[in-house]
Amino acid sequence: MGKLIVISGPSGVGKGTVLGIAMDRCPDLRFSVSATTRGPRPNEVDGVHYYFVTRERFEEMIAAGDFLEYDAHAANYYGTPRAQAMEKMENGHVLLDIEPKGAEQVKKNMPEAILIFIMPPSVEELERRLRGRGDTSEEQIRIRMERAIWEMDQRHWYDHVLVNDSAEACAEEILKIIADKA
Ligand code: 5GP
Repeated sequence: MGKLIVISGPSGVGKGTVLGIAMDRCPDLRFSVSATTRGPRPNEVDGVHYYFVTRERFEEMIAAGDFLEYDAHAANYYGTPRAQAMEKMENGHVLLDIEPKGAEQVKKNMPEAILIFIMPPSVEELERRLRGRGDTSEEQIRIRMERAIWEMDQRHWYDHVLVNDSAEACAEEILKIIADKA
């Protein structure tokens, strides 16, 4: 049985890049594909980045107890389908990219899970990275920065806090944490 590894960090911190590098370097790592009610972005593939479902379907899944954890944020639902995560854990370690409210539920239900929080080098750098994406309005930047500050305040109850100065180094640290606890 593999480990369950929860990764949180504010939008723009570079989690996608870090996790991509970690998975390339460690074939035993599997990504837990979440379900969401938000629409797909242009580069996103159903079943790879998310399972894109309707609100009605998501609520049916909540009622059926299908989620290991779920949360509503940014006007949408996001959740980890329990069966998929458990199945993937039979063959390797499973990575969950989820925000702190979901992480808290996982910690409660599965105390053996490893919780890792990824911080930006600074708040200024995070804002610079968010702006660098180019597709975000001032209002969206303000909302994301507020949310980011709340998320970063939660890091104290995570098992590990890493700073993403370099995606390569950060991915290596995650692999070291997993190997230490394996
Ligand atoms: P985005 O819409 O940018 O893909 O994701 C927004 C936020 O939702 C990210 O912080 C991500 O970690 C979080 N998220 C993605 N999937 C899940 C999930 O299954 N459960 C929870 N609680 N949060 C999730």
